[in-house]
Amino acid sequence: MSVVYLNGEYLNKDLATVSVDDRGFLLADGLYEVTSAYKGNFFRFEQHIQRLIRGLDFLRINYDPVDILEMHLRLLAENKLEDQEASIVYLQITRGVAPRTHCFPPEETLPTVYAFARDFKRPDSKRWGQGYAAITVPDNRWGRVDIKSIALLPNVLAQQEAIDSGAIEALLVKDGMVLEGSHSNVFGVFNGVVTTHPATHEILHGVVRGSIIELAQKMGMAVIERPIALDEMRGAEEIFFTGTTAEVRPTVYLDGCPVGDGKVGPVTKALYDKFRSVVDK
Ligand code: PLP
Repeated sequence: MSVVYLNGEYLNKDLATVSVDDRGFLLADGLYEVTSAYKGNFFRFEQHIQRLIRGLDFLRINYDPVDILEMHLRLLAENKLEDQEASIVYLQITRGVAPRTHCFPPEETLPTVYAFARDFKRPDSKRWGQGYAAITVPDNRWGRVDIKSIALLPNVLAQQEAIDSGAIEALLVKDGMVLEGSHSNVFGVFNGVVTTHPATHEILHGVVRGSIIELAQKMGMAVIERPIALDEMRGAEEIFFTGTTAEVRPTVYLDGCPVGDGKVGPVTKALYDKFRSVVDK
């Protein structure tokens, strides 16, 4: 039985209901956040909440996340996930329930706040060591993808295209540049330099992305944030994606062609090992 949080209450998921007039349901008018926990310890919790607050301010949704850590911890406890190797809390905040209009509802409308927790399974080291495939697709998203909006249709379609072609991630391409994955950030390694798109409005400022940049620097690797052309990415020595549940995912095939020698590269492996040693400590 899964216990979820809905508007101040902790209840059995089967009993949690949201109005059909919710603006999240009708208009995708809301935000979400996904935070990982390792044996009950949240990873970079403050950064997730700062990203959430930035999004709430941008969307002008009036919600004060004052008890948010307590709520996250309680969800882990209610679902007996405190000792779990890896779990997540998904949090979604919409502009609330009101008769459908495009403009904002009356000021007194309360946001709908929903959250659930679940474990997530990492691939075993053998599977991870084989690497993964990705395809490239056009980036059809809006201009503020740094806001973690629940309006994810282009991401959904991109990801499904990847699955339909036997890959696990879709690399989004805009004006000839590779930006990020459908639900992850992307890095390329060029002459040993760990390279990723800068944290502009064109990508989500991933929490794991930030952590990997810091770890790479601490490990003495050269790191640069700059736009990467698709043609250049096709010649990368290594490619990997990062994200809260993907952690660090090596890509050994891009559009059916091998990346580098078609094997998981040493930079990706070293960064993943370091990341694991930080989160699993
Ligand atoms: N980029 C996109 C489009 C995402 O949806 C996500 C995660 O959901 C990420 C990047 C990775 O962000 P994070 O590392 O904070 O999970």
